Amino acid sequence: MEEYVHWKKLTNPDYIGAYSFLPGEKKVLTIDYVKQEMVCGADGKKEQCIVAHLVGEKPLVLCRTNCKAIAEIAGTPNILKWKNVKITAEVKKVKAFGEIVEAVRISSKPPVSSDETKISCEDCGEFITPQAGMTAKELAEYFKSKCGKYLCYTCAVKYSKKMSDKKENEAKSNEAESNNTKSNDAGSDAPSEATESNESEIAHEDNENKD
Ligand SMILES: [Zn+2]
Repeated sequence: MEEYVHWKKLTNPDYIGAYSFLPGEKKVLTIDYVKQEMVCGADGKKEQCIVAHLVGEKPLVLCRTNCKAIAEIAGTPNILKWKNVKITAEVKKVKAFGEIVEAVRISSKPPVSSDETKISCEDCGEFITPQAGMTAKELAEYFKSKCGKYLCYTCAVKYSKKMSDKKENEAKSNEAESNNTKSNDAGSDAPSEATESNESEIAHEDNENKD
């Protein structure tokens, strides 16, 4: 009986309901968290319900059937472990109180490629896709460690190009500096500029020695 109570809530615009779906539409949803809370139904009655809060969607009141389906996908009945679990929801006709009604039903099978955690590129915002024999997650982690942020393959290539250009420039300026120092050390034909900077360095050292 419990699960039949909930379909009434499906007319509540604060929650996902059968009306949220186009005909034949399947929604892939990501659970943020699940908790028991008071739900005010369209009839104005308040009731304790299990509610799945979803990423970027209105919450979904869970009936027993849907809870069981999620437990199956998550591999645990512990709702605290349902965070980030991806589910496929669709509208099914179910029998309630001798009537056929439309209700949101969650598939007990995980959405296709749910094993692949979707990570967005921090530069272009697109989902990172598998490349070069690495999964999206591996790739994301790899670029995170290399570049300090989650990047897609394209942005990572751009990023590393930018970085190597920068390094090259730095290397060039370092080279120029060390050349200056060398010519200074040699003491012959030292450009006046380099001599000046050398003098100021000595002055600085003297200041430090005074303390
Ligand atoms: Zn990108």
